[in-house]
Amino acid sequence: MLESNAWLQHAQSLAEGGSRKIPHDCGPGDCLHINHKRDGWGAYCHRCAYKGWVPRPAESLTEKLARLQRIKAAEEAVTASPALPLPAEHDPRVWPLEARVWLYKAGISNAEIEGLGIYWNRYMQRVVIPVRDELGHVVYWQARTLDKTNPKKYLNPHVDKRRLVAKFGSGSLLVLTEDLLSAYKVATRGNVAAWCLLGTKITDFIATGILASGKPVTVWLDPDAAGQTNATKIIKQLRAYGVTVRNVVSEKDPKLLGREEIEWTLKAGGAGNGEVFCVRAVRLHASS
Ligand SMILES: [Zn+2]
Repeated sequence: MLESNAWLQHAQSLAEGGSRKIPHDCGPGDCLHINHKRDGWGAYCHRCAYKGWVPRPAESLTEKLARLQRIKAAEEAVTASPALPLPAEHDPRVWPLEARVWLYKAGISNAEIEGLGIYWNRYMQRVVIPVRDELGHVVYWQARTLDKTNPKKYLNPHVDKRRLVAKFGSGSLLVLTEDLLSAYKVATRGNVAAWCLLGTKITDFIATGILASGKPVTVWLDPDAAGQTNATKIIKQLRAYGVTVRNVVSEKDPKLLGREEIEWTLKAGGAGNGEVFCVRAVRLHASS
């Protein structure tokens, strides 16, 4: 068997967040999966089930502050431009489990993750969701941290968002959501155009686009107080433009609902006649 120290030096030579496969003494081939995590170094052999873990010595307060400062500086540098922050690992099967689970909880499959171009950035320890325009150019991105010590949960590039809307799907109904995954999930229902408002306000540019579409609008923001305060403002604003708007309030963020629940919730509210409907989505299935 490979002694702990033998794999450890390989694991320590990896960049934080990195992993690779190396040989193990139990047989031929690279079957020992080693990784470098923030809190230590690990190894797992897919053949003999050997497991190793060496925790990193606890960091002092000074070291922690220095680390957070380094992360902050690196994050400020990448947010200066909408260019996608690299490196990018596009295959979710090799991401850390927690990173994938965040998307699996929203019912997003590996094939969908790859189709949407969502990737893992191991330097940033973040899942990055790119936003492209109609021509396929990246205009924006959102990066969610998996590092619980990082106070900034979401990172976005500092760009002018006044003319920016992330659009998914197409159809006779326009649904407005407050996060990208919710817009994507709602659009998978079919015959629905789902737009994610990247800011909390509807700018004149966006309002004009909504009006020009001629479609009735369903505002489906998160059920929390902040989401509903915004929903009230948006509905008032759109009604002033003469747009038919209704509000949908579900028990959870739209992205956390099953696809049948989304279907059912959109149907339950009817076509929309200017009244505010409050629909409580119930779980139809224990899990999906
Ligand atoms: Zn082995």
